[in-house]
Amino acid sequence: MDRTDVAVIGGGASGLFCALALKRLNPRLRVTVLEKQDRVGRKLLATGNGRCNLTNLRATAEEAVAFYHGGGGFAKAALAAFSPADACAFFREIGLPVRRDEAGRFYPMSNQAASVLDVLRFSLAEAGAEIRCGFQVRQICPAFVLSGDGGEISSRIAVLAVGGPAGSALGAGSDATRFAGQLRIPFVPFQPALCALRTDPALVRALKGQRVRGAVSLYEGEACLARQEGEILFGEGSVSGIAAMQLARFALEPLRRGAKLHVSVCAADPQTSELALRRARLPRRALEDFLTGLTGKRVGMALMRQAGIDRLSRTAETLTDAELRGLEAALSDWRFPVTGVMGFADAQISAGGLRLSHFDPATMESKSIKGLYAIGEALDVDGMSGGFNLQWAWASAMSCARAAARA
Ligand SMILES: Cc1cc2nc3c(=O)[nH]c(=O)nc-3n(C[C@H](O)[C@H](O)[C@H](O)COP(=O)(O)OP(=O)(O)OC[C@H]3O[C@@H](n4cnc5c(N)ncnc54)[C@H](O)[C@@H]3O)c2cc1C
Repeated sequence: MDRTDVAVIGGGASGLFCALALKRLNPRLRVTVLEKQDRVGRKLLATGNGRCNLTNLRATAEEAVAFYHGGGGFAKAALAAFSPADACAFFREIGLPVRRDEAGRFYPMSNQAASVLDVLRFSLAEAGAEIRCGFQVRQICPAFVLSGDGGEISSRIAVLAVGGPAGSALGAGSDATRFAGQLRIPFVPFQPALCALRTDPALVRALKGQRVRGAVSLYEGEACLARQEGEILFGEGSVSGIAAMQLARFALEPLRRGAKLHVSVCAADPQTSELALRRARLPRRALEDFLTGLTGKRVGMALMRQAGIDRLSRTAETLTDAELRGLEAALSDWRFPVTGVMGFADAQISAGGLRLSHFDPATMESKSIKGLYAIGEALDVDGMSGGFNLQWAWASAMSCARAAARA
């Protein structure tokens, strides 16, 4: 049977990073990455719309509780030990300079996620780590005999870097659930997070593909559960776009309780007096185009209907003051019921995973199985959009590598 010192199960963001960190900390260690797909890092290639938002200025221990769900407290130690600045320095050292945008998000200078994967792969090869693709680990026996599609391998240390089922179209799956069962590790069921919100298809049919820059708030009755600003995109029976997707995490628990939820979109925030001025300036403009410019045409027409304004072929001068007040309300509080969240295929991150109380936050080692570590999305930590999830992948991988290299 083949032997190695450290078997990293999963060649995604956290697994590749962990393997590289291990080899840099202790070049003599034999490190083997086992990846079930025919190539490593498929999800990484899709990150940041192909540009890879690899960390965020605010993905720090101090702000962890604000930007990470569930595991914010747990993530603190790893984020303190390996900050966004450390991640940028690490990538710079392996040949990937980064740049920051005005929102504090970091991207590779090349603007290509492929470069991030490439520098990790090149550095792993240079450091002498072994990567075995097409090896799906199915069973982890005591003393870490790992067996699966690719054969059998025994290892002194095993690192679970198998991710979660978000982005299932990219080959992501729920193997963490199976290992939790085999190893008797408590588990929080996976749920799609950072994904589009389902709504009544009839309400968004005419809006499919339309974008709005504004604010979107999630409500349970009159209580606002969360609010985000940014892009809202209407999809097939869904309200999507990063701003709306960020709200999905806040909808999971109320939806489980059967609560009635809705989102309120603020597409623009003009006062009635401003709309009256627009009416005065554009008296001959057909009502179907009255909002065009302030919003897109299709969005504008939908808002007119939402405000109860009909006969859109008439001209703006026919708008009554009451209709303008209705329009002001529709523009700032455009409501859509939330009937659920979209599935794992659509999600960027999974909530849930291996239960954190079972792991040491300083090392990521299991408290009951010595030599077993878990990192990245397989653990019950999920962050907001903006580079927080990859920073968690890097930081948890580094904590694990430092501890495993010592062990
Ligand atoms: C479309 C999309 C865009 C995203 N954009 C961003 C972004 O810009 N910034 C950001 O911070 N986050 C982003 N994320 C989230 C980010 O990709 C994840 O947080 C991150 O990839 C998690 O890393 P991981 O190593 O834990 O899991 P993964 O990257 O999913 O890697 C897990 C690996 O393990 C392999 N594997 C699973 N089971 C087994 C097994 N039994 N045996 C062997 N191998 C196995 C899988 O094939 C996979 O390669 C995005 C996610 C998606 C889906």
